[in-house]
Amino acid sequence: MKSRKTTLMLIPVILILGIIFPGTAVLGQTKTENVIIITLDGFRWKEVFQGANRKLLKVPGNKRKRNRKNITFWDESPIKRRQLLMPFLWTEVANHGVLYGNRDYGCKVNVANRYWFSYPGYNEMLTGNPSKNINSNSLGPNPNVSVLETIHSIPAFRNKVAVFSSWDRFNDIVNEKRSGIYVNSAFSEIPEKQASPIQQSIESVYGLLPKVIGNVRYDGLTFMQGFEYLKHQRPKVLMIALDETDEFGHKGEYLQYLKSANRADKLIQELWTWVQTDSLYRNKTTLIITTDHGRGTGRGWRNHGQFIFHSNETWIAMIGAGIIKQGEVKEKCKYHNAQIAPTIAALLEIDFKHNNPLYTCISNCTNNTLQLADAAIPANETNTRKRTMRKK
Ligand SMILES: [Zn+2]
Repeated sequence: MKSRKTTLMLIPVILILGIIFPGTAVLGQTKTENVIIITLDGFRWKEVFQGANRKLLKVPGNKRKRNRKNITFWDESPIKRRQLLMPFLWTEVANHGVLYGNRDYGCKVNVANRYWFSYPGYNEMLTGNPSKNINSNSLGPNPNVSVLETIHSIPAFRNKVAVFSSWDRFNDIVNEKRSGIYVNSAFSEIPEKQASPIQQSIESVYGLLPKVIGNVRYDGLTFMQGFEYLKHQRPKVLMIALDETDEFGHKGEYLQYLKSANRADKLIQELWTWVQTDSLYRNKTTLIITTDHGRGTGRGWRNHGQFIFHSNETWIAMIGAGIIKQGEVKEKCKYHNAQIAPTIAALLEIDFKHNNPLYTCISNCTNNTLQLADAAIPANETNTRKRTMRKK
């Protein structure tokens, strides 16, 4: 038990931290019962907050030429550009939720892991532990316990946690075997007994489509499968992990990269509209939208990884029950993706013990640990980074 003296000493510290880290109060009064996490792999904060990039979109410098062309996602105003690109994010979430990561205002969200690619990114996000041993996309089953696994171990959440992903590594990332969580990744099929007619129809087109993005399921199909699962199996925690943004990024196809994000935004809007009309989910659901890593800038935009500057920069958007409406945070802030797992636990009031106590939920309760966050990786270790497996 804290002594009264200690408590009194803490009050000014909390007040000062509140001034240093404004906009940190996340957890609101309305209690949530369900959490939906949607990720856009390797989607940069720049596009989220500034919209399409003039150079990458190859917008003509000449104003008259520019005006003659109707360029997709382009407007001179960055505010209009971002609305063109992600209308749901910049209407619904901006008006009723919170968006962290606009570095133009000094609000910084980063991954805390040192690798800046997918498996380490998703591991960090879901386990709250930017573990140095998670250093490859081909790692196999994750030795770390994710917040999803912890939630799934609670009887009330048994068989109420599911993951749908375009990329096939998620079975390992959430350790499907050990955790027992239902994972539907890439082209894996839903057991016949559980599949709805729509899910069966979606599955039937898998083999009919060209595989232009490797062995990755198109995000639209992943999303539709996840959405159908939500409607019929009624999970309490659902993750939909989209991948096209990263795939088109690596290919250097900037317009396709934008179109994928725009389609994702539309699908998220559809899902959220449904959530708000369903008696089980309405006003009892939290939506978290984020990414696993950033990308480089300029010509480096195509790639990411520990040698690509700025690819540790990310963003987090949240809306729904438990989230205080703050809109776009236009003040200095400092968060890490590792805080997402403990935030999910806090929202659902789950006791989640992870291996790195430096990263706690994104709320007032984290103020005293945020300052320590960068100290999580000792300086000597950051100097001895090794190249790892193929980047995702
Ligand atoms: Zn990648």
